[in-house]
Amino acid sequence: MSGHITPDKAAEGLPHPLIHQEVVAARAPWSHAVRRGQTLRIIDLEGNQAVDFLLYSHADDAERYSFQDTIAAQENIFLRTGSVLRSNEGAPMMTLVATSVAYHDTIGGACSCESNTLRYGHHTKSQHACVENFLCENAVYGRNKRDMVPNINWFMNVPVEADGALGIVDGISAPGLWVDLRAEMDVVAVISNCPQINNPCNGFNPTPIMVIIAGADEQA
Ligand SMILES: [Zn+2]
Repeated sequence: MSGHITPDKAAEGLPHPLIHQEVVAARAPWSHAVRRGQTLRIIDLEGNQAVDFLLYSHADDAERYSFQDTIAAQENIFLRTGSVLRSNEGAPMMTLVATSVAYHDTIGGACSCESNTLRYGHHTKSQHACVENFLCENAVYGRNKRDMVPNINWFMNVPVEADGALGIVDGISAPGLWVDLRAEMDVVAVISNCPQINNPCNGFNPTPIMVIIAGADEQA
């Protein structure tokens, strides 16, 4: 158990019943269905850990998270408490009901072997990356490269300067900070616990996270 958070403490404030609770290892992928009405909590156990995140409709995965629809509808590029994560059909998929972090990113994208090579040199080509995690985890559901879309980066700090310049700087997260997402439709959440070691998004040291699913299935 990392981060000195007991399982009971980690689930504090969540609705009942507890459906699922798991520590996702550093660098690993993860996915799970979240039914309408249930809450997915993600905990940054040790701090400064970017959690790359995609959402697909459980009923038909042609409907999936859309950062454009999300940003356009809320007229803001950051994800904060109250943000509604929308699909490519504009439908609410999940609501960010609460978070202990000031804001989260949805424009920085996911790291890949290719982008690592471009940014950090050819010697990084063999390093594991988020796109590979997403491809592996999505393959379980029969999805492939065509199903990759721009993602959310929970706990990642991507400031946007006045001239539009993007940064990837030290995280604004800390050990034990969390985000709570209530499902507005039946979804499958897919995570890459980011393995990046060439920039500060994980404090140069990828660490485990905890995921918890809780609450009644409104369709049960
Ligand atoms: Zn990554």
